[in-house]
This record gives sequence, structure tokens and C-alpha cells, in this order.
Amino acid sequence: MNSPVSQIKDRLTIEDVVSSYIKLERSGVNLKARCPFHNEKTPSFFISPGRGSYYCFGCGASGDIFTFVEEFEGLDFKGALKLLADKAGVKLEVYTKEMKEAESEKERLYRAMEEAAKYFEKNIENNPEGKQASYGAGKEVLEYLKSRGLTTKSIKDFRIGFAILDWRKLYDYLRSKNFSDVEIEKAGLAKKPEDKNKAMYDRFRGRIMFPISDSSGRIIAFSGRIFIDDGKSAKYLNSPETPIFNKSAVLYGLDKAKDSIRKNNFSILVEGQMDLVLSHQAGYRNTIATSGTALSNSEVSKENVVSNLGLIRRLSDNIVLAFDGDKAGFNASLRAGRIALSLGMDVKVALLPEGVDPADLISKSGVDAWKEAIKGSKHIIEFILEKTLKNSKDARVAGREIKDKVLPFVGALESSIEKMHFVKKITDLSGISESALKDDLEKVEQELKSEKTEIVEAEQSLAKVYRKDYIERRLAGIALWKQDKELENKLGEILEKYRSKKNDLIFEAEIFYQNSEDLPKEIDHLLQNWETEKINEELLEKMQELHRVKDKAEEIKLLAEIQELNKKKHELR
Ligand SMILES: [Zn+2]
Repeated sequence: MNSPVSQIKDRLTIEDVVSSYIKLERSGVNLKARCPFHNEKTPSFFISPGRGSYYCFGCGASGDIFTFVEEFEGLDFKGALKLLADKAGVKLEVYTKEMKEAESEKERLYRAMEEAAKYFEKNIENNPEGKQASYGAGKEVLEYLKSRGLTTKSIKDFRIGFAILDWRKLYDYLRSKNFSDVEIEKAGLAKKPEDKNKAMYDRFRGRIMFPISDSSGRIIAFSGRIFIDDGKSAKYLNSPETPIFNKSAVLYGLDKAKDSIRKNNFSILVEGQMDLVLSHQAGYRNTIATSGTALSNSEVSKENVVSNLGLIRRLSDNIVLAFDGDKAGFNASLRAGRIALSLGMDVKVALLPEGVDPADLISKSGVDAWKEAIKGSKHIIEFILEKTLKNSKDARVAGREIKDKVLPFVGALESSIEKMHFVKKITDLSGISESALKDDLEKVEQELKSEKTEIVEAEQSLAKVYRKDYIERRLAGIALWKQDKELENKLGEILEKYRSKKNDLIFEAEIFYQNSEDLPKEIDHLLQNWETEKINEELLEKMQELHRVKDKAEEIKLLAEIQELNKKKHELR
């Protein structure tokens, strides 16, 4: 019996998989494209159908359909396996049994989340009345969701559920499914009281539950919206950070939106879950939501914003922000908008009536009103410019506000033609002279310089770190699986980092390499790539240092080191 990996590889070519994500052009026997993993204007990303692999001459990204999906979708190996198996129509059942026996911690947590989702869904379907009615029962929740404009189909599709207002309904349910206290706590579904003699209690109580999935559709977290506001509890409560949920790296609805974003060549970013579900229902399946995590949180680091935007940008360069302009989240989203401009994306803002969010607009004014808002969306700079001019009382104030609020966005643009286009536009609308604006823009650009460098560096280091980690993981997996002492020694300290994930890694290595005809050759190949990546990383650091040093002698020393590293890299090839 062939492993699922080789079955999938038999059914899906590299061309099939990659072309479902990005546009490919023929180039002799190979295919080429603009690299999805780094920002470039001319294609340096090549695909060899014969070898079933890809390579980028710009950033060094390389691999097969599995690495491509992992890197493109931001998934781990099992997530990529699940996604590709679905695509190829390969059943993973045989492996499901084995998986269960050696189920890793993460795997158990994914399953606990799935069970919890099923449980929450049942609470709505079963319409529990009677005793629970006063706490908000399923029937009332269903009525409420329908009154907000949701259809039964949407509720099902998005697997919206309800956590009953009680202390340990979910906890008891999960215990009955053989999950341990530790697992339930680690999944972020129940909490341990400070007094250790007291019983655990559910984190989500009396809340409408929205499951958050990764891009392969596995549930990794929940967002719970309070059903009956008691004036004390937060309106929204999200899952805490867990081994399967990184709060700052998730966009709600990406699993359902990604195909449509690609097809329509733009995405719509909204703030809340209701906004998202109603927008999908209105036919805009290219909508994703920040859902209080990821992009709309001003405390999220630049690197995380870049990584989230990177996921969206790989699908399309065009993004429309659709927020209620009165809310705090809007200002944070403007920050994300500015970073998106720096990454060369085209950013527009949908015009919503003040105080109205997309969910209200769709349910009260109808689908056509939403269509109009999206169609009439304006470039982010025009949007801010008009808002600033409208809000300022006299021309002098406007001048200052334009410098503070509008020019940073102009400065963030990549193309100088676009910059000049907007300078002219500002002149036309505000009456401020072009030369005065250009002077101010120059100052703003000086101030922005370090931010831009930070963004570019974040982008580069994300790509590099990921690739090196990926190769290390593969090598560690083989070493642990084969108990290969020689390889273990070569990996040294690195291996220690992966010991806690031993079961996962062995599983990956086994199903990946069990049919390999020449494992030693694969190992050599990985080791060689690993060495190259280590040199790349050193090179990147030295280059960055080179930009910073002012001392001539120091500069010469760095240049010599860079030359030496390049030589080493050449020898490895
Ligand atoms: Zn590249």
C-alpha cells in the first residue's frame, strides 16, 4: 500500500498545485512566476514539472507540493497533508487509526476543539428550553441570529454554536469524551480555579460561539460573543494562546475566503464575525475578519502584521478595508493599511455611513447597499485626505493635519509615480502648493525610513527563518525516526529543541520518507540546503549591519566577511 504522500503526488502535479495559487508562465520545459514568498516585479520563481519541485532564484525558496502548501498557507505538515489529501481525493483513514494511537498533544487539542464545536452546535440545534430558558437557550439564540439577518445555511456553514450559561457543561461533556483536565485546560476551553480543591469551570458561558479555523479548516480557537449582556462581562471573549493557536497570526474566515480572494483578485477586510458571515452571505466570499486578533490590535508587532498581510497578499495585492469609521479598531486598521502600502499592496477603504458596521448595513439596508459600499470604495489616501479636510476648521490647521495624517501614507507608497499622483491630488483638494508638500513629504519620508526598513527586514527574516526551521524540522524528524546517531550528532543542540515534538516529527518523517528509494541522498540534499540557509542567514545579518556601520575600517571588515560567506555558498552548490 502506497503512503498517502505518494498517492497524493501521483494524483497532483506541482503544476496543478502551484497554478491553483498563482499565475504561471511557460519558460522552456519549466514554468515561471512572480515569487509568492518575496516581493518582486520580475519572475524568478521556477517550477520544474519533471522534478516535481520549485526553486526561487531571488529568495532561495525551494521544495515540493507539500512545502509549497505549508509555506503558502502558513500550515504545519499535517495541515498541508489534510489539505492536499482533500484536493486529491485521497482518504487518510488508514492513517487516522495509527494517528490516534500515537496521537500527539497537538492532535488531541485539535480534536478537543472539534468536539467542543460539535457540542456548541448541538446546543442551538436541539433548542434546549425549559430550565435553561432563562439563561438564553438554543431557540432564543437561533431567533436572535435570524433577527440579525443570518440564514440557517450560514449558521451551519460557519458552525456557529452556543455555550450555555452554566459552570461546567462543556467540561463535563469533554470529560465524557475522555479528555483529561490538562488537555481541556491547554485547549483553553476550561479554567482551573486558584483554589486547587475546586473544580474546573468553562471559559465560555452564555456566549454565541464562532469557531476560528486555520487555512486547512481545522478549528484552532473560538470567539464567543455575549448573548445576554450583564453589564459585567466583555462583549467578546477569544480563546487564549494555546499550542495550536497563535493569537496574532490568525484571520477569521481565511479558510472559506481564500479561493474567492484569488478568483476575484481582491479581499475585503472587516472587523467582526457577524460582519464576515453576512458579507459571505451577501455573495462576497472574499471577506476575512480581524476578529479582535491579528491586524486590528495595535499591540500586535509589526512582524505579525507583515506576516498576516503576507498571507493575504499571496492571494491578491488588492485589499478593501471595511470598518465602522467610529470605532477604535479603525485606527489600528489604518496602521495595517499603511504597512500594506509599504508592501506594495493596493489599499482601498469602503465608505460606510458613520456608526454603521457592515453587518448592520447588510441586514438593515440590504445586499445592494453593501455592493454599493464595496464598489464605491476609495483609495486609502483619498479617504484619509477627504476625512481630514472635512474635519479641520481652517486651511492652516488642514496643512498641519495633512502633514501628520495623510503624508505618512503617501510616504509609505512604493512607487514614486504614485507618490506624485497623490501630491498633485492633495494640492488640488487643499490648495497647499506642490513644492510645500514635496518638502514636507521628504521630511516625513526621513522619519518613515526606519519603519520601512523594519518592514522589509521583517518580511525577509520571516521567509528565511521559516525555511531554515523547515529544513531543521525535516532533518530532526529523520534523525529521531531512524535513530540515526551520525545525523543526531550533526544536528547537535538543534535536536534538543525538537525533542518535545518527537511524535509529530517521527510521524512526518515516516509518512514522508518511508517510500523513499534513496534516503541517504535525501538527507545529503537536506543537509546541503541547511548549510546554505545558515549562510544566507549570516549574510542577511551582515548586510543589515553594513547599512548601520559608519566606521570605514568596520565596513571593510564586514565586506570581507560577506565575500567569504558568498564564496562558501558558491562552493556548496
Ligand atoms: Zn522568492
